[in-house]
Amino acid sequence: MPTAFATTDQLDAAQMLGAPLRWARPSALARPLKVSPQKAAEAAATLGLTTVGDLLEHLPRDRREARTIATLTPGEGATVVVEVRSIASRPVRRAGMKPLVEAVVADETGMVKATFFNQPWLARKYPKGTRLVLHGKLAARNAFRVEGHAPTSESTGGAEEVAHYPATIGLSSTQILALVRAHLAAAHDAVDPLPARARRLAGLPDRAAALVAAHAGDLEAGRRRLAFDELLLAQLSLLRRRAQRRAAGTAPVLDQPPALTTRWREELLPFALTGDQRAAIAVLDSELAQRRPMQRLLMGEVGSGKTVVALHAILRAVEHDAQAVFMAPTEVLAEQHFATLQALLPGEAVRTALLTGSTPAKRRADTLGKLASGELSFVVGTHALLEPDVVFDRLAVVVVDEQHRFGVRQRATLDAKAPAGLVPHVLHMTATPIPRTMALLRYGDLDITALRELPKGRRPITTHVASTDAERARAYERIREELDAGRQAFVVCPLVEESEALAAKAATVEYERLRGGELADYRVALLHGQMRPRDKQEAMAAFAAGGADVLVATTVIEVGVDVPNATVMLVEGAERFGISQLHQLRGRIGRGEHPSSCLLFGPKQSARLRAVEGTSDGFELARVDLELRGEGEIAGTRQSGLAQFKVARLPDDVELVEAARVYAEALFEVDPELAEPEHALLADALAAAHGETWLQPLPA
Ligand code: ADP
Ligand code: MG
Repeated sequence: MPTAFATTDQLDAAQMLGAPLRWARPSALARPLKVSPQKAAEAAATLGLTTVGDLLEHLPRDRREARTIATLTPGEGATVVVEVRSIASRPVRRAGMKPLVEAVVADETGMVKATFFNQPWLARKYPKGTRLVLHGKLAARNAFRVEGHAPTSESTGGAEEVAHYPATIGLSSTQILALVRAHLAAAHDAVDPLPARARRLAGLPDRAAALVAAHAGDLEAGRRRLAFDELLLAQLSLLRRRAQRRAAGTAPVLDQPPALTTRWREELLPFALTGDQRAAIAVLDSELAQRRPMQRLLMGEVGSGKTVVALHAILRAVEHDAQAVFMAPTEVLAEQHFATLQALLPGEAVRTALLTGSTPAKRRADTLGKLASGELSFVVGTHALLEPDVVFDRLAVVVVDEQHRFGVRQRATLDAKAPAGLVPHVLHMTATPIPRTMALLRYGDLDITALRELPKGRRPITTHVASTDAERARAYERIREELDAGRQAFVVCPLVEESEALAAKAATVEYERLRGGELADYRVALLHGQMRPRDKQEAMAAFAAGGADVLVATTVIEVGVDVPNATVMLVEGAERFGISQLHQLRGRIGRGEHPSSCLLFGPKQSARLRAVEGTSDGFELARVDLELRGEGEIAGTRQSGLAQFKVARLPDDVELVEAARVYAEALFEVDPELAEPEHALLADALAAAHGETWLQPLPA
């Protein structure tokens, strides 16, 4: 029986009911958010603020997110803290448009021209000398398109001064702050999905306290707790997906002695495997030998030797008299893989076919027949493999290339093609290395193996940043030396974000300049995206055949160019490119027998250029990229589900991701269905965040 505080007196029912306790009333947070006037309400809705709860989860950004002007890249959203150097409004010719306000703003690293739309009064509100927090995007020619702004005080430090809310036209940061102040008490009505034990383990405040702190005290401590919730729910949902696949059936046990694979590796493969390849193969072998279906992701850059590892798994299936499939996202890739795989296959021992959307009907029918009878042991193809009439006799191993280009459902379709009650072993592949934390978020339902070590015979590339005139002159000298020695060179023109036409123009200008200047004595060719496809192909083919010494190009050369004799790459305006793009570009050289060099024209102090200069390890570069830019801007992560997070962000929350994963796994161990009473609120939160369907099996 409960007793009164500090006594042994028992409380009666009336006393207990009258106790001054406050219970969470989640309905208070579900109440619609009242905003007036109507225009402001509409603006709130565009920010996703429709309930009081939405408002309280709309956290201010603090100064830590602010970036310096020098680190901005075109097209990327960012916040900067700057001082107004000059400001003026300028009429816009189009009828009905309010004058544009243009301000030259600067921080200690540089200057940009900030443009404000539809707010002519700002020219008076923000006179020269005003310090501002600006949120927006760097566009062409050093113009910063402002999407949100707020004045800030001269002094630095103290998150409050720049703590401002993501705002929009019609609803300013200041207005949002006023709304938050009016509704903050409702934070105490938030239910806490985290069991107290978990909070204690992770050292986190309760959710109500975190919401209050996030707005009116320790922003970072509050934000971290809310971020943990998001990350935990995401990990639970991923683990759930993994468990569902495991529960869907057992996999064929491939545990016979490796007769074919051993012969293939020792006698037929024209090279020795790298240490990473051997390690990956050992892991695959042990997983294929189990009843639990393999769900592994093989991560390694182009050329790291993933295909060879995948082929091992495929041959394991074949030597068990079972079947394997290799699915690629496009026909071109499927055809390329088919050719590569055939070249590496042990001749007659493996019967293979290619199946894509453009396979002729007769051949298709023949292939389908042989797959159904088991006569064909291996098929390479595209989405065409998912058709219902593609039936296997004994499918045991599935390899999915560039797995992010297929949906969960499409992969599940392949699963269903294994014999009844069985699930195939699946190996996914990706050529985009990402740091471990991001992999946990994006591929948390898979086990991961990385191939970091590049195969022998690959030539190292030396990279230098050239900034001064003397360095540029020396760089051209370097190119001429290589050309004189019979090698070839790429000159990559700066990225022009907003228009392919402008990029093409810039490349053409540079092409003319070089032909009449530094490279006058050599055969220079031009390649850009505005050329007709046939002309592009011809230019490429001519360069590949040695018909030109230098290829001046836009980023179109990023993909699919293989000219082993090209040993130099010069990148103009290199600071405009992202790390991964520079790394990709650089991959066009160093493909032959000669050592190669990459010359980046850009400022020495650029952290990105220094990183690319410092290492050619794609995994390391991905890590640096994450540190410099945050997850939102790294290639391909936008679709990864990270964007779903309102509060969590990388790299700041690296440790939280790990903690959430550890806790999710522990929780899954003891209560995978979240059926225990103490996990009921968590189950509710999961259903709210990831849909009611999270408990149901994936549709096949
Ligand atoms: P990925 O699929 O990761 O892009 P591949 O498996 O296609 O890489 O390998 C790229 C090239 O390197 C292929 O020509 C392949 O035959 C070759 N290769 C793969 N592994 C090795 C190795 N250990 N030693 C030498 N060459 C290799
Ligand atoms: Mg490959």
